[in-house]
Amino acid sequence: MAPSVFMPASWRTADIEEYRAQVRRFVAAEVASHQQRWAKQQHVDRELWSKAGALGMLASDVPSEYGGSDGSVAHQTVMIEELTAVGDTAFSISVHAIVQQYILKQGTEDQKRLYLPRLASGEMVGAIAMTEPGGGSDLQGVRTRAERVGDHWVLNGAKTFISNGYLGDLVIVVARTSDAPGARGISLLLLETKNAKGFRVGRILEKIGQKGQDTCELFFEDVHLPADAIVGGEPGRGFYQLMTELPYERTLIAVNAVAAIERAVQITADYARERMVFGKPLLDMQNTRFVLANAKTKAVVARTFLDRCIEALLEGRMDNVTASMAKLWCTDVQCEVIDDCLQLFGGYGYMLEYPIAQMYADARVQRIYGGANEIMKELIARSL
Ligand SMILES: Cc1cc2nc3c(=O)[nH]c(=O)nc-3n(C[C@H](O)[C@H](O)[C@H](O)COP(=O)(O)OP(=O)(O)OC[C@H]3O[C@@H](n4cnc5c(N)ncnc54)[C@H](O)[C@@H]3O)c2cc1C
Repeated sequence: MAPSVFMPASWRTADIEEYRAQVRRFVAAEVASHQQRWAKQQHVDRELWSKAGALGMLASDVPSEYGGSDGSVAHQTVMIEELTAVGDTAFSISVHAIVQQYILKQGTEDQKRLYLPRLASGEMVGAIAMTEPGGGSDLQGVRTRAERVGDHWVLNGAKTFISNGYLGDLVIVVARTSDAPGARGISLLLLETKNAKGFRVGRILEKIGQKGQDTCELFFEDVHLPADAIVGGEPGRGFYQLMTELPYERTLIAVNAVAAIERAVQITADYARERMVFGKPLLDMQNTRFVLANAKTKAVVARTFLDRCIEALLEGRMDNVTASMAKLWCTDVQCEVIDDCLQLFGGYGYMLEYPIAQMYADARVQRIYGGANEIMKELIARSL
């Protein structure tokens, strides 16, 4: 898409654009051509994680003393943008990055030293398990429980819809660790899944989109965790920790949304230029021009707002309300724009061999996960 007067944003430095070129090469070589196969097997190849790790792409915003690349959320943004540009929704690096942020910002020094280098190299794949079969929006209502028995925790319960659930080696599990009311009884526990007795991965769930991403049910039956498995060491702080880190997760969802909006406008304009209807290019129809003019305007407005959000994250100023607005608005607009663009493809827009059809299916969940958009409205409304 042609740039606007607001672009490039200040966070897109020469350094960042150099990193983008490296990521683009990696995505072209290792990601773009595997989409159908990954969709069929419902997960990416395990080696993809180690390949990305070897190039320093899995922990771009983690300090090098913990195995990271000393970059920032701007590097993370570039990675998401480049994956979205080729239509990838299988390589769930955002969830992996979120797990690292929890450990980096909320973990003990021992937890950082133990896990961050292994997540950075791709030796471990990260997942975060909040949602339960009984409900995902009401995080304070979690029923998964960890009881302190002697010198360890015993975990029981079930989670569902967990991204990276099949390949995940390190899962942050949201569980109740006491009967303290509401948020105060909730903790985040670090579970190493390999050889964990009583831990079971259920089905990889069949989804309407994002088919190459392993979204799973997880079951815990008397799983023993060491006493120091609580993120940050102190039980009862889980809800506070979630609230502190969710702005990062929600901004990354908005990054994905805006990259998808821009791609939709681009591929639809290209198609409309080529497609002939009634003896002239589809793009010459006033309706097509108006639809795409609207879509491009939304793309530029979304991008401009998102760029400010990234700057705020970089400066440590991002707040929950603004991140909720970014998640809400950018994902709503993503679905609107992709739907409008799909219409311009006619029947071809309904065929999966056309990227716009895949984008339509992939987009829908953006309004649901990371907190449903109705929850975003509740959070924003509290600030009125
Ligand atoms: C592909 C995919 C990947 C996911 N990855 C993860 C993951 O990695 N980790 C994880 O923990 N979870 C993950 N989720 C779960 C996701 O975060 C939840 O689905 C989401 O939070 C909603 O929870 P729920 O599905 O239980 O819906 P419910 O909580 O049952 O809510 C259903 C609907 O009710 C409405 N609603 C709920 N509460 C309110 C309210 N207070 N006010 C108004 N309306 C309301 C909303 O419209 C909502 O969509 C994933 C989901 C999908 C589909």
